[in-house]
Order: sequence, then structure tokens, then C-alpha cells
Amino acid sequence: MNLMALLTAAITALSSLLVSIFGYGADLTDTAKYFQSRVKNLQVYENTIETALPQIIVYDLVSEHFDAPLPDGKTEKKAIIIGFDGGRADVLDISSLEVGGSKLLLEQGGKAYLAYTGGVNFPKINRQFTSTAPGWCSILTGKWANEHGIINNGMTKAVEPLTLLTSLVESGKADSTMFQVSWRGHFVNDDSTYKLEKQYCEEKGLNVVFNCNPDDEGTHASLMAAVAEADCPDFIMGIFEHLDKAGHSTGFSVNNPKYRKGYAESERAAYELICAIQARETYAQEDWLIVITSDHGGISTMHGGPSIQERMIFIVTNKEIAL
Ligand SMILES: [Zn+2]
Repeated sequence: MNLMALLTAAITALSSLLVSIFGYGADLTDTAKYFQSRVKNLQVYENTIETALPQIIVYDLVSEHFDAPLPDGKTEKKAIIIGFDGGRADVLDISSLEVGGSKLLLEQGGKAYLAYTGGVNFPKINRQFTSTAPGWCSILTGKWANEHGIINNGMTKAVEPLTLLTSLVESGKADSTMFQVSWRGHFVNDDSTYKLEKQYCEEKGLNVVFNCNPDDEGTHASLMAAVAEADCPDFIMGIFEHLDKAGHSTGFSVNNPKYRKGYAESERAAYELICAIQARETYAQEDWLIVITSDHGGISTMHGGPSIQERMIFIVTNKEIAL
């Protein structure tokens, strides 16, 4: 049995244990309840839990965007993924917002889709932890943990498979890319996910900026500064931690005012960013793909397990996804 098979077996065992302890579950009535009571009432989603999209589809969206021919009148491809770490699917209540990035995209004709993390849709037991590193790594590489190897936090990915940040620059499809975060587990810590990929970019002299900010305000300021540049990076990935922080400290729940506040703060940051993008002097000539998504949900003050609350996330985009 190789290491991956062992780890997979360990996850499955742990997941089953969690199900038996907490009763999270592989129970279709849970699905119906979550959908009916929480998600359906939001009236924002194009699909249902049964037809939820795999989060790796975000990778395809960005790849296809850069591969597609430029529309008439456009001279430049640009894309941004705005990440809300720890955003549950049922938090996407745009009607509660004064301003919001998702609200703006939807008002402008964008769409919202239910998606899942964990490698396989609920109610099947997840194959990778519903944790930060596996989730974002699946979004950035278009692969699940059986291929990218990051089944949990605190693991370093081999250089391959490359993330979009590096592959777009290496292939010449993007002149430059940028990764703005505040969680040190992405590429700062010794056991960070993209430590080797960052090193690879530095050795090759690739135009990929990896920047870790002190906090969400710092990430916001760095992203705002980036999109204000006339020659801003062609692909930008930025992750806000408001929701994850609120969830871990006071509970991942839409009944928790602090979690909802974290959502409103994330949405305001995204709104300001999208407004700044749309105010660019060259915006009319640019073909932008804008995506807002999350890496995992949460339950109680944790995530990582197989529950529907941890598994269901959202993808909001200004471009339609064929279902
Ligand atoms: Zn996370």
C-alpha cells in the first residue's frame, strides 16, 4: 500500500468516526433539510446540492478564459479569484448586504452556483479534509488531493502540478500573476503548501508575486494597489480570512452575527475591488473573468469533516458556467 492509499484509508476511517460521533451525515434527509431551510431561501443559486459543481471547476474557468479568443474590441485577458476562506454556501445572503462583490456581480448579470469541496459530492464521505490547503490547492491546480497530494493543512506540494499562478506565466498566457494572502500556511511557513512552487518561480525568474500580508486589511490594500496599476497582473488570486476567523472563534453559522459580519466584511472588500477593476482606464479593452469562491464551509467552530455544512461552498462569477 503506498503512502497516498494509506492516507486515504486514514481519512476514510477518521471521517467514518466523525460521522459515528457527531452524526454528520451520509443521510439524504440532511441534504434536503439544508437545501430547503437554508440554501433555497436565498434564491441566488442556479443549481441544487445534487447538481453542485466540483470546486476544481474554477481552475477550468480560468484556464478556458485565457485560452478563449479575445472578444471583439478587447485586447487583453484578465482574471481574478476573490477567496472568502471558510464561506459556507448558506451564508450567501446578498439581500442582507448594503454593498457586496457577489451582489454587484449578480446585479450585473453574473451567476451563483453551489459547489462542493472534499473531492466528491455530499453525501459520499469526503476524500480530502474540508480544510484550507486542500480546498485552495484544488481550485488552483484543478485537481483533487489524489493528484496534488495536499489532503490536509501543513503539507508541502511538489512543484507539479503547478498552480494557475505559475502555469499561466510559464506558458506565456499571462505576463504576470499575483497571490495575496494573510494565512502563513500558503507559502510562508516551513510546511506551507506552495513553498516549493514559490522557490521554483524565484529560481526561474518567473513574474509571479507571492505576498503574505499581516491581515485582511493588508490583503485588501495590496489588492487595491495592484488593480490600480495601469499594467496590473493578468491573473490575481486574493484570499480574505474574515469568515474563517469568525467561524473558528465564534461558530460557522448563519445564526451567528459575528459570522454574518465576517461575510459582510468580505463582501465589502470584494465590492471595492470589483469597483476599482471596473473603473480602470483600460477596462473597456480588457476581458475580465471575476470569480468569488470559498475553500470549505464549517460547522460549530471547526471544519475538515464530511458534513454538508462543511462541504457546500459557492462560486459566484460574471461569466456563466454551463451546467
Ligand atoms: Zn480555509
